[in-house]
Amino acid sequence: MRLPEYRSKALFRQYGIRVPVGVTITKEDYHSGLINYDSVVMPSVVKAQNMIGGRGKASGIRICETSEDVKKHIIDLFENGFSGNIVDELLIEEKIAICKEAYLSIAIDRGAGNFCIMASGKGGVEIESMSPSGMRMTGISNLIGLQGFQIMYTAKPFVEAGADLQEMKTIIQNLYSLLKKENALLAEINPLVIRSDGSLLAADAKIILDDNAVKRDEVVCTKNNLSPLEAAGKELGVNMVKLDGNIAVISNGAGEGMTSLDQIAQAGGSLSLWIDLGGGALSAKPEALDNFIEKVMDTRPEVLLFTAFFQIGKCDVFANSFRNICQKRKERNDYLPQIILRLDGRNADKAKEISKGTEMLIMDSSGEACVMAANLAKAGKKNVNTH
Ligand code: GDP
Ligand code: MN
Repeated sequence: MRLPEYRSKALFRQYGIRVPVGVTITKEDYHSGLINYDSVVMPSVVKAQNMIGGRGKASGIRICETSEDVKKHIIDLFENGFSGNIVDELLIEEKIAICKEAYLSIAIDRGAGNFCIMASGKGGVEIESMSPSGMRMTGISNLIGLQGFQIMYTAKPFVEAGADLQEMKTIIQNLYSLLKKENALLAEINPLVIRSDGSLLAADAKIILDDNAVKRDEVVCTKNNLSPLEAAGKELGVNMVKLDGNIAVISNGAGEGMTSLDQIAQAGGSLSLWIDLGGGALSAKPEALDNFIEKVMDTRPEVLLFTAFFQIGKCDVFANSFRNICQKRKERNDYLPQIILRLDGRNADKAKEISKGTEMLIMDSSGEACVMAANLAKAGKKNVNTH
């Protein structure tokens, strides 16, 4: 489970790794008008808390010099998102004067079966295109743990870039303790800012916890870590894979889902979401199902294809949900993808009856429904999702 930046930074703080001063605001705070823009420390940085890489390059990080700037960017990010991503939470931090950007991470090395430190005196948004030769890598023995000579070896490029040696040693040690104690698979600081006086600050933070260990700790295992879509999906127990296309597919049964994925790809389409409903959704409360479908629509796919053959579930129940949701969203003037329903099996006739006279497309063959989805997505405006 990946933690958003502000939660990762809260853990950094707890383990004595210095981070900038900041506050987190949610979309609800924004809508309720509770934000006092004048109380923000200036200059500041407004950071979208979406759990994707490269927010900086995708304009999810906004540097602000005045409180008017802050207000403008908060409104823009909540109202319009950035590069196709919907924003639900923002972290607003003091802007730090960046002297040098370095890179430090510790992660599981599955091949070696231990943790590995990666360190470079040069970090920042271009880290992936940098030559790996500038990166120091050190495997940590599971038996004897992190050793003094390894800390010195890792600290060297940072010290050469101007970092204080003592502080650097402490950060490496603390990051390793955090990883071990919190059952993390990865803890990354990029950029680790080296200031002109040699002091260090984690300007960004990324932590991934081991899913198998997460339930042990109730404090971190809150709904807050999940996006609204993930939270709604968890309630139903659905399986979900996020991809970077513009067609969302909901199917019942992994076989049906895989076949649809292949057929859509063959017809030149690409998926933004692949969702296998599974048994949980069939016994779920109708409100939970409706909420989930709405959250799928909120990701703004160009096309939403629902394809299923029901033997236990009832087609008409789903058709009804879809019809009601469409009506509600139209009344609210909310985003509506092009909807294709391919419902076969129990009560399929009733489902067709319910869907008549709506803008939902009803198809009999799953193959044709997939081709239709690909064609509609191609014809529609490009709305590529990168969440
Ligand atoms: P990412 O692109 O998702 O990894 O987001 P980061 O939090 O790493 O921010 C991207 C880039 O924005 C950083 O590498 C910095 O160059 C810049 N940035 C972020 N915070 C600050 C800040 O407080 N001050 C300044 N000057 N630049 C910042
Ligand atoms: Mn970063």
